[in-house]
Amino acid sequence: MKNRRPATRPARAAFIDPFAPREIRRLVAEFGSPLLIVDCERVRRQFRQLQQALPGVDLHYALKPLPHPAVVRTVLEEGGFLDLATTGEVELIARMGVDPALCIHTHPIKRDIDIRAALDRGVRVFVADNPDELRKFVPYADRAALLLRVSFRSPGAVSDLSRKFGCDPEQLLPLARRAHDLGLTVQGLSFHVGSQAPDPGKHVEAIEVCGKLLAAARRERLGPCDTLDIGGGFPIDYGTRAPEIGYFCAPLRTALAKLPKRVRVIAEPGRYIAGPSAIGVSSVMGRARREGRWWYYLDDGLYGSYSGQLFDHARYPLEALKRGGKREPAVLAGPTCDSIDVIAENLSLPLLDEGDLVVGRAMGAYTWASASEFNFFPRATVVSANLEPGDRGRVMSIDR
Ligand SMILES: *Cc1c(COP(=O)(O)O)cnc(C)c1O
Repeated sequence: MKNRRPATRPARAAFIDPFAPREIRRLVAEFGSPLLIVDCERVRRQFRQLQQALPGVDLHYALKPLPHPAVVRTVLEEGGFLDLATTGEVELIARMGVDPALCIHTHPIKRDIDIRAALDRGVRVFVADNPDELRKFVPYADRAALLLRVSFRSPGAVSDLSRKFGCDPEQLLPLARRAHDLGLTVQGLSFHVGSQAPDPGKHVEAIEVCGKLLAAARRERLGPCDTLDIGGGFPIDYGTRAPEIGYFCAPLRTALAKLPKRVRVIAEPGRYIAGPSAIGVSSVMGRARREGRWWYYLDDGLYGSYSGQLFDHARYPLEALKRGGKREPAVLAGPTCDSIDVIAENLSLPLLDEGDLVVGRAMGAYTWASASEFNFFPRATVVSANLEPGDRGRVMSIDR
């Protein structure tokens, strides 16, 4: 008893599990519903796991899946970098006072005002994939360096980003020659095989092809050609399990080890960092029994955080926070008056009342980011916890 602390002294600050039912209820009581709860401790865990799976690779968190200051800060504190794609994202990091040297701008198609906005903030590395885009950089040749994006089609990926962006591998050298002739700096190459890649095959193929192209471009002295950006696409668990990340990345490590030492390798993970790090929490607004099933109408739906079911083709593991009781066939629907706004059918849930909470797991990536305010139902409030020990949850404006 001698060493017992006085009762008034606060307990040592610790990390909490904001996904535990008790904490979820506390956060809803404090911040309302619907919520997107971001756990910065899980952001750290995801970052460290990927870093361990890809040693020596600089990880640029792609803001697109969850452009939130708490995630950005956590990634930077872990020694990470950032991948920006829009002027809005450039402004977000500028408001946060982030060192622009840690950022690259990877949208292959930009307006002059977008290029200038990023340059004015000090961002130097950009992506281009076609001759018209190269020409936009001529006025800024002394301030910008380019990664040329190569496309590797990947019909198996959830979203095949190589259909919309990137030049064919056969067009790469002509494009690099043109960049060189225009007086631009060819820093290296980039690719993105598509999000939630089913297996590492496309990454490996792309690394091998890009390795050869980098060597060829360097032989022709088309630029420093010393950076390879292997993009994102690292898969996470939803309803179905993804390969463990160390296992997924093993063939990538083998392929990367064959590159010359001078080549700096970077990656642009988005989903892998953000996805498992947040849950969606919504409340039952009302219910009705229709054709032998309970329909529960939630305050979040397909026009909100569950928009990822449409745009990202994701299916989030769903559960009612309430435990016990007999389970009955149930449907979860969103709040809007549109008939498409149904989150899941054929569920089996305990009988829910108005105000009961429903949790969607793995909802950090491409959820809240693509939510709208259709029917004037506001987007979920983003609450982050564990930004530092003792941080039990806070709302951080993304406009700040
Ligand atoms: C969307 C995107 C990413 C992130 O991809 P994930 O599959 O979420 O890891 C990275 N880079 C670029 C250029 C992107 O467009």
